[in-house]
Amino acid sequence: MIARVRVGVRTRQWAGLCLGVLTCITAQTASAANCPGHPDALGTSRTLVVDPREHPRIGTMQYPETLPLEDHEVVLTFDDGPLPHNSNQILDILASECVKATFFEIGRMAQVYPEGVRKLRDAGHSIGTHTQNHPLSMDRMPIDRARQEIDDGIASVKAALGDDTALAPFYRNPGLLRAGDVEDYLASQGIQTWSADFLADDWRHVSPSRVFDLAIKRLEEKGRGILLLHDIQMRTVAALPSILHELKARGYRIVHVVPATSGQPATPTEPQQWQLHPPSETVAISHWPKIPHFVFIDADTLPAPALSDFDWRDGQLMTLAEPLYRARRLAHGVPLPREAPWPRQSPLPLDNAASALPVPAESIFEIQEKRHAATRPIAPSSHHAEQTVPSERETDGVARLISADARDSRRMIPRSPPITEPGLRRVLRHLI
Ligand SMILES: [Zn+2]
Repeated sequence: MIARVRVGVRTRQWAGLCLGVLTCITAQTASAANCPGHPDALGTSRTLVVDPREHPRIGTMQYPETLPLEDHEVVLTFDDGPLPHNSNQILDILASECVKATFFEIGRMAQVYPEGVRKLRDAGHSIGTHTQNHPLSMDRMPIDRARQEIDDGIASVKAALGDDTALAPFYRNPGLLRAGDVEDYLASQGIQTWSADFLADDWRHVSPSRVFDLAIKRLEEKGRGILLLHDIQMRTVAALPSILHELKARGYRIVHVVPATSGQPATPTEPQQWQLHPPSETVAISHWPKIPHFVFIDADTLPAPALSDFDWRDGQLMTLAEPLYRARRLAHGVPLPREAPWPRQSPLPLDNAASALPVPAESIFEIQEKRHAATRPIAPSSHHAEQTVPSERETDGVARLISADARDSRRMIPRSPPITEPGLRRVLRHLI
């Protein structure tokens, strides 16, 4: 543990000086140079201290967040051990390259081979758990049973270590089979659930060269991340030396992840560093402005506005009589009939539109009483008006005006009766 912390301090100092790729390569070289007996070793570039409570789920294969790695930084993880023969070879290969990794141990394996777990600790690797029995049903198991699997796995590994502090609060689901309530339970216990960023399919019946190809290919596609391997697999033992050699040849650096403790605070990071592909500041600019998607873009045709939809002329609203002329013109064509002599059609400002537009209701012109005596002429009769056929009630100019318009537009407005004096005042108020 002390050695691990020393490495962490040393590599964090180097990481702090990494101002560019060249500098980071220098750090990697220095780290490898400190690998006794292996001057060409890959080495461990730095130690990353994480707080599981701040980032309870990591690995972009299943979660939005992953470890805050720089480009060309890799975290190696191994599942399903310990299995003495193969796991010991994996440990030897890692030691020859001075590479630190994280192991997710199965409880029952730890019960059978407790010395294998202790070797991990003594070599300075991080140790997490992987349930007690490795059931491939954690995604559908009753939560009580799932909790039992998790708790038993932790207890077994702790028992093998004989030291509670040597176990990291790191956990990985068997088969990466996740469930929300399981993850919630783990988070409530301060345990970080690890997925992965890429696999090498080393649990399948494939050749070591295939494992190597997949590991490198998938890493190159992402540029950094968590690689999931299995230390119990012989093909992994066979492929690992080539993988580590290729990582160094391609300029990749190994990062060792340890949990934060009271004496070792988490490595300072920014939230966007926990995303494999955080949104770039240039994305919004390069994608803007964007053409809004209006509904009518997809329409085959659009209804053309009819002239009759607008009672406008040179920006002024027409008077009450004007729509009637317009309607007549549209109905019968030109020429327009003579304009009524009175009252003159006065353009109304827009703010009077509401009072100008409504057609007077027929009730306005009703004569309730004294139908003849209550009205008086207010304008001389025009020739046009005289040509109308006045009814008995059409006795004043306003009435004749309306009557004349109505006669030519009978289908649009009913013939109006004479107007009472109060009604007349209302009409005048609208027309002037
Ligand atoms: Zn597993």
